[in-house]
Amino acid sequence: MTDGIDLLAVAVGGRGVVDPAEPVLRADDEALLRGRAAFETIRVYGGRPFKLAEHLDRLAGSAERIGLPEVNRLELEELAQQALDAAAAPDSVLRLYWTPTPASLALVSRLADHYGALRERGQRLISLRGVRADEPWLLPGVKSTSYAVNMAAEAEAKRQGADDALFVDAEGTVLEGPTTNVWWRRGRTLYTPSLELGILAGVTRATVLELAGETGYAVEEGHYGLTELLAADEAFTSSSVREVMPVTELDGAPIARGPAADELQDALRRAAGG
Ligand code: PLP
Repeated sequence: MTDGIDLLAVAVGGRGVVDPAEPVLRADDEALLRGRAAFETIRVYGGRPFKLAEHLDRLAGSAERIGLPEVNRLELEELAQQALDAAAAPDSVLRLYWTPTPASLALVSRLADHYGALRERGQRLISLRGVRADEPWLLPGVKSTSYAVNMAAEAEAKRQGADDALFVDAEGTVLEGPTTNVWWRRGRTLYTPSLELGILAGVTRATVLELAGETGYAVEEGHYGLTELLAADEAFTSSSVREVMPVTELDGAPIARGPAADELQDALRRAAGG
């Protein structure tokens, strides 16, 4: 299936740092029983979680929309720091979980070592039918732990010899990847699907929107079909962990490489102080 998580440290609300092999949830926690919990995945640069406040804002919004108790930001910040101190891994991945019992967790894991090589080569994507979350009960913009479908899509893309999936709705409108937002460039304009399509408001997407202006690109957000992406001058994805990652093939058709992905990746690293 998909890559596992190489855990370095775990901190739990009310307990602090625990052995990563220890159980941390009650058996009746709906995070486990129904995938009803909120989470965030955050890139750590030089020991500091990038855009932590923005991730906590999104976590609080996700928790509210799936009916969880109000997120205790202070507790999560403290748990994050404890787990980061225990992990002592300056470049790593921080995950925060907020569940109904309620339980709060901070996990620090090793950064997968193949992202550099993937950035060099560029990603091959396969478009797969996804759900356009345009009703409140489809939880638009919510980052919940119900990620089995997203992971299955990534696994299907890999089964077909690609690196990742790209969700499109029933009409062929481009949405997002299972764990990424998608972008493409024509001339000096970047295009990305708009949030009203029910996609996740990526923290990196918001950062790239900011950085695009200073890098000299205009941005258009909207509803686009796959043909527009296939006709692009270049394409890339954005996410906290994979950062800005070029796309060099979609459904077997090549997509050219271009300067914007590298420029924005550099700008992202500068913004992160990395
Ligand atoms: N879209 C989905 C469905 C995601 O799960 C993610 C992140 O995991 C993203 C987009 C990118 O979001 P971010 O930039 O906040 O990591």
